Amino acid sequence: MELNFISTGESMTKRTKRIGSRCLRFGGLLSFVLVLSPLLLHGDEPYARSRNYDLQHSRIALRFDLQDKKVIGDVTHTVSLLREGLDELSFDSVGLQIENVRVNKSEAKFETTDKALIVRLPKAGKLGEKYDVEIRYEAKPTKGLYFILPDKDYPKRPAQIWTQGESEDTRYYLPTYDYPNDRLTTETILTVPSDWLTVSNGKLINTTDAGGGMKTWTWRESLPSSTYLFSVVAGEFVEWKDSWRNVPVTYYAPKDRADRLAANYNRTPAMIEFFSKKLGVDYPWEKYAQSMVDDFVAGGMENSSATTNTASSLRHPRLVPEYPHDEDGLISHELGHQWFGDLLTTKDWGNIWLNEGFATFMEFMWTESHYGKDEGDYERWDSMREWSLQHNLYAKPIVRRDFDDSSEFDGNAYGKGALVLSMLRRQLGEQGFYASLKHYLEVNRGKNVVTADLTRAIEETTHTNVDRFFDQWVYGAGAPQFEIAYQYDADRKQVALHVKQLQKIEERVGLFTVPVEVEITNTTGPKLYPITVAKPDETFTFPSASAPQLVIFDKGSQVLKSADFKKESREWIYQLKNAGELADRADAAVALGKLKGNDEAAAALGEALRNDKGRGLRVEAAKALGEMGGPAAAKELLNALASTEEASLKSAIVQALAAFKDNAEVAAKLETVAGKDGSYRAQAAALQAIGRLKSARAYDILVAAVDGDSPDGFLRNAALRGLGSLGDDKAAPLLREWTMPGKEFSSREAAIASLARLKKDDKEITQLFAGYLKEPHFPIRTSAIFALGTRGDASAIPALEAALNRDDLSIEMAPMIKSQIEHLKNSSAPGGAHGGAGSGSASSEKNPGDQRLVHLEQLVQEMNDRLKAIEGRLPPAAKPQGLR
Ligand SMILES: [Zn+2]
Repeated sequence: MELNFISTGESMTKRTKRIGSRCLRFGGLLSFVLVLSPLLLHGDEPYARSRNYDLQHSRIALRFDLQDKKVIGDVTHTVSLLREGLDELSFDSVGLQIENVRVNKSEAKFETTDKALIVRLPKAGKLGEKYDVEIRYEAKPTKGLYFILPDKDYPKRPAQIWTQGESEDTRYYLPTYDYPNDRLTTETILTVPSDWLTVSNGKLINTTDAGGGMKTWTWRESLPSSTYLFSVVAGEFVEWKDSWRNVPVTYYAPKDRADRLAANYNRTPAMIEFFSKKLGVDYPWEKYAQSMVDDFVAGGMENSSATTNTASSLRHPRLVPEYPHDEDGLISHELGHQWFGDLLTTKDWGNIWLNEGFATFMEFMWTESHYGKDEGDYERWDSMREWSLQHNLYAKPIVRRDFDDSSEFDGNAYGKGALVLSMLRRQLGEQGFYASLKHYLEVNRGKNVVTADLTRAIEETTHTNVDRFFDQWVYGAGAPQFEIAYQYDADRKQVALHVKQLQKIEERVGLFTVPVEVEITNTTGPKLYPITVAKPDETFTFPSASAPQLVIFDKGSQVLKSADFKKESREWIYQLKNAGELADRADAAVALGKLKGNDEAAAALGEALRNDKGRGLRVEAAKALGEMGGPAAAKELLNALASTEEASLKSAIVQALAAFKDNAEVAAKLETVAGKDGSYRAQAAALQAIGRLKSARAYDILVAAVDGDSPDGFLRNAALRGLGSLGDDKAAPLLREWTMPGKEFSSREAAIASLARLKKDDKEITQLFAGYLKEPHFPIRTSAIFALGTRGDASAIPALEAALNRDDLSIEMAPMIKSQIEHLKNSSAPGGAHGGAGSGSASSEKNPGDQRLVHLEQLVQEMNDRLKAIEGRLPPAAKPQGLR
């Protein structure tokens, strides 16, 4: 699963961001982070169950009552007993109304609990005995299966039904064995309106007229997979057909977005070919379908042979050229899962990295092969940095069972998992690594796996013992924190490199033993020395005929670590200009960004921003100049902006410029870009920037941009957000208008967040938001909850409490509401907390000259996007009745 939200906003520097990532980066918004943590509460079973029976095949017939948002099911499970004398079968079943159960075609006794359907067998069975259990039932699912339908405010929405099983939600619409450690084949029979399309796992067998304007579709999956990978998508979709080596490759979009499929997804067959060749195991399923659905609860989900992705991945064709990798991250991730996750499936949630770490690693693989080494290295370097900033992940090992209070789908399973695989690749070598993966895939094909299966496959293939590696990186927690310095001894002609491991050795975090390459450059050129670091404090000596111009520890940043390397600014400048690996130049850019007032550093960063061959490095140079601040840095950014046409880079430069308060030239330039630019991304970034900077013409420009036309309201939404940062109450009526039902959801969310920051004494606005709490559309409700927190108006407490008491409330939403109530209670008390718990904190705006404010606003924006990601995971259909 890719827990991504694909942002249409401009604050996210990367195309996608994962849930569980970026958490504690935002020290200033710590309370917000803490607020968010409980949302990840899962309570999934950490250990695989002991099984009483083997579910071998399910024939699943579903009809739908659209009026009542009901599913009407008739499922027949074929099971084989795994215990002698078993006299009952238990199926996971939550909220299902069981009408009737038959065992081998005879009526059977059954009982239900809040979690299970227990079916009595006619007599105690024998080991290996087979039974057909037919269950007829109805349900109004609160999870697992979602109805997205048109309503009075959104009458043109294409109707859609889709499911999301992972991790343990299939049981909300289908009584079944709902844990990964069993695999079955399926036949899915869907009866839907005759003008709808359907998609499910496996091959389409046939469609038949069901009468009354209905049609029945039959799908059959002959390769076994687990129930969390079962999928149903049905609705008013359009299909685009392609193929890979005669395997059907199909794509589905809501019927009003047909033109977006090819624009965003056309590299899929090339990816299937690349992965098949690289892994040495061909794509295993009978077809590959990707269905893009509205209001999806995740970024994407790798259902076997039938991935479901968010329709946000259908970027407007006019915006596509501005995103260098477009949606390839999401597409390659879910495709990678078809091998790692679907063909081989984690046995339990504790080993989920075997699914997610690999899928994330496959993203790196695709980027490197299709976009080149520099882009691949940049993605890996950026993931490393991102992981290092999430302090909450540090103490947790990748394989763990204690995820009651935080999701196992975290930045360790995804980012760290992928980085660990990258390190393995480096240490085993290209041939040994991929041969090991091929062996791992072939030996475990169609089976459930644990981490030991991977280590065994590696050792059988390469005869390299990797126990220490897995102990420290997978079963152990953290990563080394190095402090590094060196001296040159001219008499001995030696470089002495001092390396300390500063991480606190406690609980699961130990001392690391890691191979690293040290590169020493002197007048005779660069020379590479492999060493192994293993002690808390070590000194390594290397020959060098002259004083080095540059010493690099861990060339190319191969090891997951943090490193504080004490270097003079001239050496960092030399490194930025001359290091061969992008990762080393990027480290130099970050280091130079911290040297405020150093004009030489600014000039070097400016040159890198204009001329480095790596796009990612240029983006990092822009960020570093923004971090540095001051007139020299501003000048470099302005010069670079004038000379680049590349949209992702322009956008990065504009975002960096938003940090320069009280610089008239910057403000004027940003106003120009905000008014008109060849790049939508740059223009959107500028609209938000002038709001933050409160530039002279900001109000007029932002209001004009709200009225303007752009693909998917891209510029309008940026302008609506900019008006919130600007904080001018004049904008309230306009923002209010854009919060209203019937407007595009993305514009409503932007307008609600911004209006929350204006006219804080206006009770009418508070009442308006309180009304939005009752809407069925999940992102609007979430926006309203946080908007009420932002306003700090305690009169909203009863409305929030009423929302909390609704019996249809999803469990994830409760902590969000509670935290806002708590916040409102505290802030209304004398000396209470400042700012919204989790939204724009207006109290810090009293110090407009403070650069921290700019940072804070950027953080709030990023947090808003992060919040959207979480919104994306929460079930929108928790409401039985409503607007859609
Ligand atoms: Zn995934």
